[in-house]
Amino acid sequence: MTISEAMERESHYLMPTYKRFPVVLESGKGATAADVEGQTYIDFGAGIGVNALGYCDEGWVRAVAEQAGKLQHISNLYYSPIQIELAEALVNQTGMSRVFLCNSGAEANECAIKAARKYSFDKYGEGRSTILTLQNSFHGRTVTTLAATGQDIFHQYFSPFTEGFDYIPANDAGALLERIGSGVCAVLLECIQGEGGVCPLDGDYLRFVAQTCKKHDVLLLIDEVQTGMSRTGTLLACEQFGVKPDVVTLAKGLAGGLPIGACLCTDALKDTLSAGMHGSTFGGNPVSCAAALYVLGRVSKPDFLKEVREKGAYLKEKLLSLPHIKEVRGMGLMLGAVLDEGFAAGEIAAKCVENGLLVLTAKTLLRFLPPLTITKEEIDRGVAVLQTILTREDS
Ligand SMILES: *Cc1c(COP(=O)(O)O)cnc(C)c1O
Repeated sequence: MTISEAMERESHYLMPTYKRFPVVLESGKGATAADVEGQTYIDFGAGIGVNALGYCDEGWVRAVAEQAGKLQHISNLYYSPIQIELAEALVNQTGMSRVFLCNSGAEANECAIKAARKYSFDKYGEGRSTILTLQNSFHGRTVTTLAATGQDIFHQYFSPFTEGFDYIPANDAGALLERIGSGVCAVLLECIQGEGGVCPLDGDYLRFVAQTCKKHDVLLLIDEVQTGMSRTGTLLACEQFGVKPDVVTLAKGLAGGLPIGACLCTDALKDTLSAGMHGSTFGGNPVSCAAALYVLGRVSKPDFLKEVREKGAYLKEKLLSLPHIKEVRGMGLMLGAVLDEGFAAGEIAAKCVENGLLVLTAKTLLRFLPPLTITKEEIDRGVAVLQTILTREDS
């Protein structure tokens, strides 16, 4: 399928919900993808932070193929050994108490929202159901997670949205204190706002949120859909901020490229959602679970985490040495580059793609979420493409 064929046929059959780059990808290995014409691309996006182990990691392929050849789906009416193994590993590695498995980040957050409201209902009755989220946050595309998302641009067209969300500015302790009183059951936030422009929360603020929540018996729900699974150099980003959430959600990198989501909770919430209160036909799919179990085994190893931190520091330093990059934000291999005034991230990203580098944007920033297994040599090659583009902008 040529590029023009792909564009033409896609436009006839798919809803036009995506603005795509003019590239038809067909295969990949490690952090390198190849298109139908044989051109290769260094991948600084990994999907959108999904292919944690890159393309076609051998062990990952084996784990997936083995499970697909054994049993692909059984519904949640029966017990699944691989699902139980993944749940045990996730609970042990995160220090949480129970997990609900679903299929995406938005679904994981839906579960967190339901669990928080039910917990409060059980303890305090009706009327204590508001969830505070941060302005500039992103929590998903369902009608409820759009409502949870604290950016006005997402609150159009689809009303009525789910009630019971209120937005407070990030890093503003006073605003939290003003709003937290009666009616609030939870605070939902990202440690580093990804879609919002790679904005890490201030550590003191996040610890203050955690303390204040505890004082008011308000649950702290941390959305680690993007930051989790070792992306920032620790299994969960919140470890580096020194906070322990009551509920944490995972998705993107969890199964290394297969659909999955997870909502983990502490002991206090372990029985909050009981039989019949929540579910998912595909949730905890055996093939996705086998993939996730394999990914978790790899990315939670101390040496692997150390390498993520080192490669993150290496990429950050290289980016800072390029022309027209003013600032680099983020942690580990979740980085965002602020460009000089007058530089449009979307245009730079398009030129990078033309020249063999897949790169993401977030708001006005270039965004980097490479596979966690990327090598320094692949980082060098990707940065060289970006350097050429940014240098060319001078002439
Ligand atoms: C991507 C993302 C989501 C939504 O995940 P989907 O799998 O697309 O539903 C939610 N929260 C955060 C922080 C994300 O980055």
